[in-house]
Amino acid sequence: MKIFVDQEKQRQHFPSGFLVNGVMQPNPEKPERMDRLLAGVGQGGHKLCAPEDHGMGPLAAVHTPAYLKFLSTVYTRWQRIPDAAPEIFPNIHPDRRTASYPLSAVGQAGYHVTDMSCPIGAHTWEASRWSANCAVSAAQTVNAEDCVAYALCRPPGHHCFADLAGGFCYLNNSAIAAQYLRKTYNRVAIIDVDLHHGNGTQGIFYERSDVYTLSVHADPARFYPFFWGHAHERGEGAGFGYNLNVPLPRGTGDEGFLKGLSEGLDHVRAFAPEAVVIALGLDAFEGDPFGGLAVSTSGFTQMAQLLAELDVPCVIVQEGGYLCDELGENLHAFLAGFKDGA
Ligand code: ZN
Repeated sequence: MKIFVDQEKQRQHFPSGFLVNGVMQPNPEKPERMDRLLAGVGQGGHKLCAPEDHGMGPLAAVHTPAYLKFLSTVYTRWQRIPDAAPEIFPNIHPDRRTASYPLSAVGQAGYHVTDMSCPIGAHTWEASRWSANCAVSAAQTVNAEDCVAYALCRPPGHHCFADLAGGFCYLNNSAIAAQYLRKTYNRVAIIDVDLHHGNGTQGIFYERSDVYTLSVHADPARFYPFFWGHAHERGEGAGFGYNLNVPLPRGTGDEGFLKGLSEGLDHVRAFAPEAVVIALGLDAFEGDPFGGLAVSTSGFTQMAQLLAELDVPCVIVQEGGYLCDELGENLHAFLAGFKDGA
């Protein structure tokens, strides 16, 4: 399987903190995650490939011009503010964003950053851009070869909306890959197995019937992202019926997760996708520091086998999964299961 990663550029993003229960804690979305994931890739003997620079086109197909301008320029503008912190955190959270668009970096940070897990540092834009380039390069390979490819995206993407960063995510890599696959395939499904609901991905495609979004995740009633990911959210307008959420009780293990995924996949099959994107979070693992669900290492292999049964071209996009001894092993277990079942 081809694996796309730019270690040097993606490593540059090193967010300092995020706010947990009112306390500033070290941000868990660390460059070291890449080392663990690469160790997992290494166990499978996959082929490492450098992503190409695809420019702004594939990003602009999913994100708004104002948001991309904000993300690419705000660090420089922020640094002109006297005594500004080295990273951008919002200090205003508008409850509605339909009023005037602010001109100041501070106002725009409030407008475009939904929570306190997404500090924007000197290299955030470049690292995010190259993370997205991995997703596009993997999609380009799949478009050309009808195969399965993996994008080692870091920072991750599925909490990012068209114009809103959130949950460690700045560009929605899975959505960008799905949109790129639409060049070749008429119907694309995004299947999100991250511990957390893929709220940004849902938001981007919520009114569309050409991209089906399925997410299996910890019940958001008491878990991030709280405001999205409930079972009643089924899409709107032309997109009604093309979004499906499967919230699971906290602590659900392999059996419950695979059952929920399997039921979701029945709906995906009815949609008959010509290609799929798998938003692969590994944080549903029983030993992940977020501690929301209890999937085992062999559970990831079984998950992959279920997904491989769809038997369509596929881009696997890395989402969450945080530092624990088994992080690399879990990626290896997933990729091996996918390979065996494909
Ligand atoms: Zn997650």
